[in-house]
Amino acid sequence: MRKLNLRQLILLLSVSTALLLLANTFYTSHKTQRALLITQTLEASSAYAAKTADSVNGFLLAAQQQLAFAAQDVLAANNSLEQLEHIAERLKQQTNSFNSVWIVNAEGTVNAVTLKTKGLLGEHLHSAGAEQALQERRPLISKPYIASTGRFLIFISHPVIDQQGTYLGFVGGSIYLHEESILYSLLGQHYHADESYIYVVDQDSRLIYHQEPKRVGEVVRGNPVIEQVIAQKAGSQQLINSKGVEMLAGYAPVLSSGWGVVVQRSLKATLAGMDEQMLAVAKYSFPFFILTMLAVWVVSRWISQPLWTLARSAESLDKPDMNSQIASISAWYFEASQLKRAMLRGLAGLNRKIGKLNLESITDPLTGLMNRRGMQIALDEWEQTQQPFSVVMGDIDHFKRINDKFGHDAGDEVLKFFAAHLQDLSRPDDLVCRVGGEEFLMLLPNTNQHAAHKVAERLRQRIEQDICSHIGVPITLSFGVASWPCAHASIADVMKNADLALYAAKAAGRNQVHSSQTICP
Ligand code: GH3
Ligand code: MG
Ligand code: MG
Repeated sequence: MRKLNLRQLILLLSVSTALLLLANTFYTSHKTQRALLITQTLEASSAYAAKTADSVNGFLLAAQQQLAFAAQDVLAANNSLEQLEHIAERLKQQTNSFNSVWIVNAEGTVNAVTLKTKGLLGEHLHSAGAEQALQERRPLISKPYIASTGRFLIFISHPVIDQQGTYLGFVGGSIYLHEESILYSLLGQHYHADESYIYVVDQDSRLIYHQEPKRVGEVVRGNPVIEQVIAQKAGSQQLINSKGVEMLAGYAPVLSSGWGVVVQRSLKATLAGMDEQMLAVAKYSFPFFILTMLAVWVVSRWISQPLWTLARSAESLDKPDMNSQIASISAWYFEASQLKRAMLRGLAGLNRKIGKLNLESITDPLTGLMNRRGMQIALDEWEQTQQPFSVVMGDIDHFKRINDKFGHDAGDEVLKFFAAHLQDLSRPDDLVCRVGGEEFLMLLPNTNQHAAHKVAERLRQRIEQDICSHIGVPITLSFGVASWPCAHASIADVMKNADLALYAAKAAGRNQVHSSQTICP
């Protein structure tokens, strides 16, 4: 299986890190955004609930105050029905606070009323609000109740008491909870576009205002927010409403009446814009992400290149120009530069070892001269480069006898002696080889057969005179000479010719030089 390379690893790491970071950023910003929106909505709802509760409270107090003033007027009217009617009408028209205004005497008989059906005049009033007012004889805001007319309403009243403290009845105003009233419009001013809504409950958890009019009058049980607000507490809370919808609610009590105002917005509506916002963030960050990835792509190449090239070089260390190739790698950071140095050092060591092995393989260990293989390499090269040369083949005469007489070791010494001798007598360009037991061969570049013959003759004479100290007797050599190029003869042919010439020299009595019969210039 193909292994991943460093660059792919860097890319993989970078891309996965970037994606993880991005996901994390999205996740956390989504979370914080969500929490922020919830907090803000809860705060706004509770502030709005407090403000509304305050307005309702103000409205109720103002209504009570108007009734208090009217009670004074009722006292001054001195039972003039005309004046009482006038007071009632003025109270209704002037402030528009009440849907109807009633002036009732201590027995509960209606003395003045603003309702169109004036048939109620002189009648005994039986409504819950009126009965409570007659009974308690103090300023009152009634609990909401359903009047004999079938209307759901509250009744606000103020007693009429003369200077002697005698109770003379009350002035009261009704406010319809189902229909248009000033309270209704006060609450209805709430802005519904953000899907938030407002409702008001009385002390008994009964809805007295709701955006769905048909719910007005309904008693809501088990709602934690309502429980809080009718306990006259203000605040905000996240809850699940009676329809199972998650809601954010702010609430505040109306102190004068014991009611509670609740402003609610669904969690879904609160968070609605958030997904779009996150999408927009993603859209804006996408180009930057792509740019980052491009940069990572380039940098990963920059980082991995030295190691990659070193790795590829390691695959083919045997190539001839590998040293310069490795040397040219720009290893700009620590690991790469250490590897590069180690590889160059290793390569140099390897080359030295190979060089040594090569040298050993072409050298005769006894004499240090080139062996037959070395000679062959030289000949191949000369054939390729068409280098003209002559070959002088020499063979020690009666060497076997020397071995027999002086021993094999002494024979070796004789061989070493001749090897050194031949090397000394040769020119720097000449190649001296030991090609057999006691056979030597000299390759003389740029030397014709005639000149080579002369060289061989001079050698023969010198050797004849020099005495090897190990044995102390003169030793002679016989020589055969040939040269190349020569007619159509191959180098092998020429070597054979030299051999034949040597045999001829031996046959002719030894210690002499013979040239090949094929004379070539
Ligand atoms: P010729 O004059 O005809 O050349 O007679 P020769 O005795 O020199 O030739 P021959 O080919 O009969 O014998 C060669 C001898 O060289 C045989 C062998 O013992 C000896 N010889 C070959 N290699 C070595 C070597 O490495 N060391 C020693 N000491 N002797 C060797
Ligand atoms: Mg021989
Ligand atoms: Mg011999």
